[in-house]
Amino acid sequence: QARNPSQPEYLQAIAEVMKSLWPYIEKHPKYATHGLLDRLIEPERVLIFRVSWVDDSGEVQVNRGYRVQHSAAIGPYKGGLRFHPSVNLSILKFLAFEQTLKNALTTLPMGGGKGGSDFDPKGRSPGEVMRFCQAFVSELFRHIGADRDVPAGDIGVGAREIGFMAGMMKKLSNGADCVFTGKGLSFGGSLMRPEATGYGTVYFAEEMLRQKGLGLEGLRVSVSGSGNVAQFAVEKAMSLGARVLTVSDSSGTVVDANGFTPAKLAQLMEVKNRHYGRVADYAAQVGAEFLPGRRPWTVPVDLALPCATQNELDAEDAATLIANGVMCVAEGANMPSTIEAIELFEKKGVLFAPGKASNAGGVATSGLEMSQNAMRISWPREEVDARLRSIMRSIHDDCMRHGRRADGTVSYVDGANVAGFVKVADAMLAQGVI
Ligand code: NDP
Repeated sequence: QARNPSQPEYLQAIAEVMKSLWPYIEKHPKYATHGLLDRLIEPERVLIFRVSWVDDSGEVQVNRGYRVQHSAAIGPYKGGLRFHPSVNLSILKFLAFEQTLKNALTTLPMGGGKGGSDFDPKGRSPGEVMRFCQAFVSELFRHIGADRDVPAGDIGVGAREIGFMAGMMKKLSNGADCVFTGKGLSFGGSLMRPEATGYGTVYFAEEMLRQKGLGLEGLRVSVSGSGNVAQFAVEKAMSLGARVLTVSDSSGTVVDANGFTPAKLAQLMEVKNRHYGRVADYAAQVGAEFLPGRRPWTVPVDLALPCATQNELDAEDAATLIANGVMCVAEGANMPSTIEAIELFEKKGVLFAPGKASNAGGVATSGLEMSQNAMRISWPREEVDARLRSIMRSIHDDCMRHGRRADGTVSYVDGANVAGFVKVADAMLAQGVI
């Protein structure tokens, strides 16, 4: 705490993980040696830099850029870039720490990192976004590389921004290595990468529900957010026969009692991805209810998929969901549920998957993009999808193996934390004190 003042999100992420790890480490004391835990919670390197650029009116704008290179114990640093005014060191350190454990769970050789900027792309012209991305990479480029650190997208960073950054990287490095994932298909992107996080989250929920002998057919589902993860979570849940009732953004929630249809989803994508609009615009177009300033958790559902941002589902929201009969919660976003909300879900027997397990499909598919680029090939969609499915199943099985309680039930939180930790910790122990 003394070393990380004013970093509540980082301390929250560590507290959540340590709660799972203590009982395990008591039984396996080798993990309490060699300063392992102290080293694990200290990022290997944190870069903070100025990003100055010129806006459309000729004014100079200054933003702050970051890259947290948390751990390279099992492979090159890997994790997304977030452009959002709320970005600060605490949020990026929590994300990089979570990413380290998540990447270990994917079975692929990737370390953990995260970065971004307090730049707000909302309301900026395409030219401004491009100039910002180029300015950002003009510093970041010296710290990243195909075998060193491979960034991807996150909130506010989609295919367009990755294209601008990968283009600048190519120019500055005079090389075409795979330094970014989430690229467009025309320059090395992988089929299924845009879909992977949302689809993977639903595949994970499917595995959880299977333990109860259930499928998604006929279930009522709430999704929060309306960005990349949310859109493809809606698509996959719908295609498996669920009725998706909500999406949201930071201004409010759309409730559609009739449920999403492929046509409505296409319209939402048009509003969000082409016009960078708000869900309120979408609600008006399709005649759905819009609840300004509200989150989706008051709507009664069987399955909840928080896919927006951290701490968007608190104890009160959890209590409401439970009172309304929710069976399963799978996080598409990173740390959307507070510690108190998670405790409540687990206490009341709700199946609960933490983001580091259920949303790992995105980074796993980024790992597959790196492999395809290295091999100079491109796998068909079906092959990437099959690999994604199998990785999500393997993460689910790992969680079951490491999260089994004495009474036979499973804590996916403990399972994910312990399984990810063991892989990183074994690699750190084997490589000595560095
Ligand atoms: P997008 O930028 O595409 O979408 C983010 C969505 O969350 C938007 O609807 C946005 O609404 C909403 N949102 C953002 N901040 C807030 C806030 N403070 N309050 C309420 N809503 C908010 O991002 P992604 O879909 O890529 O990412 C969503 C989450 O998933 C993040 O937690 C990210 O870290 C996580 N994730 C993403 C992966 C990926 O592959 N993209 C991989 C693994 C995890 P608004 O437009 O109003 O800001």
